[in-house]
Amino acid sequence: MTRPDMLAAATASREPWDLVVIGGGATGLGIAVDSAARGYRTLLLEQHDFAKGTSSRSTKLIHGGVRYLQQGNVGLVLEALRERGLLTQNAPHLVGHLSFIVPNYTWWEAPFYGVGLKIYDLLAGKLGLGPSKHLSREETLQRLPTLEPEGLKGGIIYYDGQFDDARLAVTLAQTAADHGATLLNYAPVVALVKKSDLVRGVVARDAETGREFEAAARVVINATGVFTDSVRRLDEPEAEPLVTVSQGVHIVLPKSFLPGDSAIMVPKTDDGRVLFAIPWHGRALIGTTDTPVAEAELEPRALPEEIDFLLTHAARYLSKDPRREDVLSVFAGLRPLRKTDGTGDTASVPRDHGVLVSKSGLVTITGGKWTTYRKMAEDTVNQAATVGEIDERPCITNSLRLHGWQNPPTSPGLLQCFGSDAEKLRELTASQPDLAAPLHAALPVTAAEIVWAARHEMARTVEDALARRTRALLLDARASAEAAPRAAGLMARELGRDEAWQHEQVRAYRALAKDYVLNPHS
Ligand SMILES: Cc1cc2nc3c(=O)[nH]c(=O)nc-3n(C[C@H](O)[C@H](O)[C@H](O)COP(=O)(O)OP(=O)(O)OC[C@H]3O[C@@H](n4cnc5c(N)ncnc54)[C@H](O)[C@@H]3O)c2cc1C
Repeated sequence: MTRPDMLAAATASREPWDLVVIGGGATGLGIAVDSAARGYRTLLLEQHDFAKGTSSRSTKLIHGGVRYLQQGNVGLVLEALRERGLLTQNAPHLVGHLSFIVPNYTWWEAPFYGVGLKIYDLLAGKLGLGPSKHLSREETLQRLPTLEPEGLKGGIIYYDGQFDDARLAVTLAQTAADHGATLLNYAPVVALVKKSDLVRGVVARDAETGREFEAAARVVINATGVFTDSVRRLDEPEAEPLVTVSQGVHIVLPKSFLPGDSAIMVPKTDDGRVLFAIPWHGRALIGTTDTPVAEAELEPRALPEEIDFLLTHAARYLSKDPRREDVLSVFAGLRPLRKTDGTGDTASVPRDHGVLVSKSGLVTITGGKWTTYRKMAEDTVNQAATVGEIDERPCITNSLRLHGWQNPPTSPGLLQCFGSDAEKLRELTASQPDLAAPLHAALPVTAAEIVWAARHEMARTVEDALARRTRALLLDARASAEAAPRAAGLMARELGRDEAWQHEQVRAYRALAKDYVLNPHS
């Protein structure tokens, strides 16, 4: 999968595509996989990099959503649990099982959450990952040695799925490409092409050269997350907004704050939010917040009060209080929620999805979550085939193995996400041993992964390689900024870039990484 090949395919096609998908996050990439696997001619266009938006900034859980159960949304939980089971089968190299413990500090929490989690087990049925059960105070502390012991009565353990969101995104892109789709990053759609008032294609810009090109389509799909309404306005300038935006922030701490393999799940903080502390790639991920925001942007920033909330609440549940200087990285993501009646309370907005067809035939998919991307794609492609009058073909993604499928996964650590490709990475380091060294002493990322990302995964910038193909930016933002010159050198060699490019890349990356670092004194 290389960008020059993809660009050539995108611009050379004289025949209309069956489907053109706008947006390369979880939703758009899932649609590209579904569509290509049905044998439809598929083009996906992403304005920045794959998963640059929300899809690289999640809590990284493939879950039914215990809290939707609290909200009484049984249908959504059932669907998500089914999807969790399917994805575990179709991408075992990317989705792991994780134990979560709900700590109990009052007498009523054990029976209350115990019953809720039994219902969760029942809903998962055959695809369950293991039964929930009560833990004594001692058993709870054994699994979570850094949990606040004062007042602890016990806990309830249950199981859910965990993944690496940006790695799943690139795996979906590769899976779609394996099935013949054309996918292009750095290609914003700037206009829709209409014939007799019907949307019949798009105008996109190759952001690397500035050149615009037209792509004709039987049907165009808007899968742009928090940017849904701006694309809808290319079709109908007066279109009513469909999406509301809510920001969620995470902080990343050293593993010493959460040693062991279990996560903490607090179903309800004192102000009614869900809080997770999760072991992830050898770090502890703490999140999240739910803050309504007015404007969608690609690089949202954590608000000081969101960081305070996370630090204060983490301190409440951890025996050692995290301080600002302990934070390795802080990142914010924007939830594209389907608009309801405007009560302003985004925490209670349902996370299910909807497909809408405008008068012009533009198909828009809104809402959903990472866990349900496959079902969202199935529903969207079914609808799109009808709108585009494309011959109906059944969806096959229920059992479609994703690129690199390997069961059981054989590679240790972060390389597990590469599945069967990890072997090729090992061959690369065998032929060039200097690539085996870590990029930086504080980062579990090798030089080989950067070369691989540029060569095979369409990474075009240092940010693509350090923020999404590897997760260096989230694992230690400061260390990743120090590693940027080495990454730029490796990528320049792969992509045929000069020294000026490298300087500019390092400058741009460091400017970005600054916003992921917490200043101890601010
Ligand atoms: C804090 C947080 C935590 C979450 N945690 C979880 C979780 O643990 N589990 C879970 O299942 N879900 C979770 N979610 C939800 C999940 O991350 C989102 O539902 C999902 O990533 C949305 O994907 P998307 O493709 O719709 O949007 P995006 O990932 O934002 O993708 C849309 C893409 O469209 C592109 N685009 C926009 N305009 C154009 C244009 N004109 N031309 C071309 N491209 C364009 C954008 O650049 C962007 O890449 C979480 C969300 C947040 C914010």
